Amino acid sequence: MITKVHDVVIVGAGLAGLRAAEVSCKTVDVGIVSKVYPVRSHTVSATGALHISPAPGEDPNEYMRETIKGGDYLNDQDAVEVMAEEGFPELIRLEDMGIVFHRTISGAIIRSSPGGMTTRTATIVSSGWAQELVCTLQEQLYKRRVTFYNEFFVTSLLVKDGICRGITAYDIADGEFYVIRAKAVIIASGGGGRVYSVTSNSHICTGDGTAIAFRAGALLKDMEFVQFHPTVLYGTGILISETARVLGGYLVNAQGERFMDKYAPHFKEMAPRDVVSQGMQKEIDEGRGIEGKYIGIDLRLLRKRFRRSMNIPMFKQRFDAFAELAKNFAFVDIDKELVPVIPGEHFTMGGIKTNIWGETNVKGLFAAGECACTGVQGANREGANALTECVLFGRRAGLKAAEFIKKAELLDFPLESVNSELEKINTLLSSKGNYDVSKIRTQLQDTMWKYSSLFRNQQGLEKCLRIVKDLKEKFKDINIGDSSKTFNTALIYALELENLLDLAECIVLGALNRKEHRGAHYREDFPERDDENWLKHSLFTYNNGNTPILSYEPVIIKDFPPKAREY
Ligand SMILES: Cc1cc2nc3c(=O)[nH]c(=O)nc-3n(C[C@H](O)[C@H](O)[C@H](O)COP(=O)(O)OP(=O)(O)OC[C@H]3O[C@@H](n4cnc5c(N)ncnc54)[C@H](O)[C@@H]3O)c2cc1C
Repeated sequence: MITKVHDVVIVGAGLAGLRAAEVSCKTVDVGIVSKVYPVRSHTVSATGALHISPAPGEDPNEYMRETIKGGDYLNDQDAVEVMAEEGFPELIRLEDMGIVFHRTISGAIIRSSPGGMTTRTATIVSSGWAQELVCTLQEQLYKRRVTFYNEFFVTSLLVKDGICRGITAYDIADGEFYVIRAKAVIIASGGGGRVYSVTSNSHICTGDGTAIAFRAGALLKDMEFVQFHPTVLYGTGILISETARVLGGYLVNAQGERFMDKYAPHFKEMAPRDVVSQGMQKEIDEGRGIEGKYIGIDLRLLRKRFRRSMNIPMFKQRFDAFAELAKNFAFVDIDKELVPVIPGEHFTMGGIKTNIWGETNVKGLFAAGECACTGVQGANREGANALTECVLFGRRAGLKAAEFIKKAELLDFPLESVNSELEKINTLLSSKGNYDVSKIRTQLQDTMWKYSSLFRNQQGLEKCLRIVKDLKEKFKDINIGDSSKTFNTALIYALELENLLDLAECIVLGALNRKEHRGAHYREDFPERDDENWLKHSLFTYNNGNTPILSYEPVIIKDFPPKAREY
């Protein structure tokens, strides 16, 4: 076992983790741990659209109103205010680091509005991929000699007497076990989309940090709220970004009907993601899907429509990306044929409960990015608000952690917790049980997709919970079939599965209890929003592996009280 010490240790080298590190490393010693190299973090696959809230002189209210309406009024409005106030100054800071945003010839930043919004506050990085954000921030950290622990899998948080004292991690390359002591830990480990069989998320999005924090006593919040993006390529989960619809692509069913008129007469395909996805799934479920299985997105006229703009890199980049994805993965020509799409899991609105400074209920433990739940996204995230959340709340968590450690001491770590983690890994390595990890994982993902995705009901959710609990039992009797210490991916898969199972249980439990339709959570047996009983956040407390304890807390409402939500 190897022991290391830092002032602050950050779990995750995606956008939120790197942003937190960039700001905290100016004053304190930072170590950053990631199960993949930073440039393989999930953020790099994002198209790189983020909201810069109204520039100086513009009114921030419309952006806030639309974000909150999009979130079906479950958003904590203090967090939305942060997004509206700090977006523009953050853009300037990112530019100063070397990130380039699309601008017009006269120098103005090009902005557009994603689904569900009319305010033109979203901008896009010049390369068209969020990789640009990751690479630039990573450079800043190399410059400041931050310590990277790449391809290290964090297995637990070391918490004693309600104070976080560090982490345990497993070096994937050689199987060495590490204790990394710290005065503060920031979790920035991304979402858990791999709970579902149909998802646009990378294979590494297994919600590890969320589950690890949960087992260490951190509260989780709003876990039942999972976003399903309308357009993932049928059969692959690859995202056809919202830009396809922003530019005029539209959805048709098997009868060639442009059906979104029925579900969102004004916004149509440009309604928020929950509304469009639910509309699409209804078409498929009611027998109007193409070949009974998918919806077509019609992009055939786009190149003609934008032919004069094709020399503008931003347009060419986008069209080329759509064309390439459709050709390589669906074998269709976007200029001549419909592209087959279905809704797929895309974003985790719930997560580790934090305030607007990234603080959790565990002292010394902070969280930011998709793994966290500040309450900013409510019941449905609006497009481009995730990367904004990562940079703004990542920065805030970094600042707060650096401030916290000035008064904190390096505390002793609980040796018994370290020993039990070591024992867990050794037990897995020598496991000879009856169940195969990949089979449990596949059954979990299929079950979650079948009973706990776009449309949910009491009977299905009860069945889902029973199956998840059964799979948790089977997990205790697994066989990973590989005891080697070098790049043992079977071990990593098993550790991830444990985390997925814990997250799945919270999602189903929250969904089963919430008897209403709000945003992305649609109960067929309770199809209306119910503010009287359900305008509140769900909170999940770890219960020693038994059914989590569920409680509720009020939504922070300031200037935008709930209204009917029409698009
Ligand atoms: C295809 C796609 C396109 C998108 N496009 C956009 C967009 O244009 N605009 C927008 O706003 N949002 C977009 N999103 C959402 C957005 O990309 C994510 O919400 C965001 O990138 C999450 O960043 P993060 O830093 O929180 O986590 P991630 O980028 O997922 O990083 C997580 C980090 O945690 C590390 N980690 C996880 N578990 C462990 C562990 N056990 N041990 C050690 N390290 C661990 C990983 O190695 C990684 O470094 C998109 C999402 C998808 C799926």
